Amino acid sequence: MTIEPKEKNWRPQTQAVRGGSRRSAFDETNEAIFMTSGFVYENAEDAEAAFKNQTDRFIYSRYANPTNEMFQDRLCLMEGAEACRATASGMAAVFASLACQVSAGDRVVGSRALFGSCQFILTEILPRFGVEVIIVDGSDLDQWESALSKPTKAVFFETPSNPGLEIIDVRAICEMSHRSGAVVVVDNVFATPVLQHPLELEADIVVYSTTKHIDGQGRTMGGAILASEDWVNETLSPFYRHTGPSMSPFNAWVLLKALETLEMRVQKNCKSAAEIAKFLEEQKEPTRVLYPGLHSHPQHELAKAQMSDFGTVVCLDLDGKKERAFNFMNALQLIDISNNLGDAKSLTTHPATTTHQRISEEERSQLGITDGFIRLSIGLEDVEDLKEDIAQALSKV
Ligand SMILES: *Cc1c(COP(=O)(O)O)cnc(C)c1O
Repeated sequence: MTIEPKEKNWRPQTQAVRGGSRRSAFDETNEAIFMTSGFVYENAEDAEAAFKNQTDRFIYSRYANPTNEMFQDRLCLMEGAEACRATASGMAAVFASLACQVSAGDRVVGSRALFGSCQFILTEILPRFGVEVIIVDGSDLDQWESALSKPTKAVFFETPSNPGLEIIDVRAICEMSHRSGAVVVVDNVFATPVLQHPLELEADIVVYSTTKHIDGQGRTMGGAILASEDWVNETLSPFYRHTGPSMSPFNAWVLLKALETLEMRVQKNCKSAAEIAKFLEEQKEPTRVLYPGLHSHPQHELAKAQMSDFGTVVCLDLDGKKERAFNFMNALQLIDISNNLGDAKSLTTHPATTTHQRISEEERSQLGITDGFIRLSIGLEDVEDLKEDIAQALSKV
């Protein structure tokens, strides 16, 4: 679908409510769900023309679907991207964004501090197909410089990272990457489309797990890839059409509705997260509190420069001890134990034994993920109830 010129000038929250909306012949207020796998043709000639790409129409929902397009267009308008493809999960987005462009013999550079499955794609799957993958310490510009001194096909990183909340200098890495010929893919899940716009910082591709803040209410799995129209049409689209990571139209509809409230939810999450981070710093039990908004965060200034707020996740360490971490988590009465994040409900995770159990202890220690390290995803509850729950659980460690 083509985006109307007037839509392009709306401010982000107006885009979130109205961007990409298209009414059907029934003039509905709310966007419709087109739960259909296929579409029909007036005659055989129309079908032939559609398959020759001579007409602009829907063919099959593995390629495109009207509800998915409304969601993709809305997300594009919020992100400042030209084109988007929605995927069945965040991992499908990460994999497709890389697999659509690399071939055997290519070189990929990625940061060490990654979500467990992103790390698996880089270090286990891509090398199986003959792709050389170099892993660097994301906050060390010298390591990037030396890794990118040879021609490189793609660069991949998360900022802030999951769960170590490492901040990577998007603009600096993009400049170095482009000099080496690389296309930069940024996993922007922790920042959300509200807090950080990697494309404005010269990144080429942004990927999301929409399962997290974009849904924000724990209902659907999904992902999205955003980039220039040329890259999406020429590089991603053939891979996407023929390998089928597409999103269900039902999920696209849930997410289209979820975008309407994303900004409000994320702003409230950030406000509570900042308050909880400060509160944790005042307690005696945590040996470390990690939040990009705290002056004690090693890259606080960089976070301030490239993000409009500091995110919805706060981490703490209880003396590196698994027993203390488990005692804390088991004593929580309001905050749930779950590996998910970015939800309306506050959730806590012990990465060393769950999301990051697959990686070696040595690698975990490089990432600061000790046995006492706990991730808190701050939800939409009253922050006073959250603080009371945390305080009573800390008293039991
Ligand atoms: C959750 C997550 C993913 C994967 O998303 P799914 O929707 O679970 O497949 C990728 N990157 C980051 C940073 C994540 O937090």
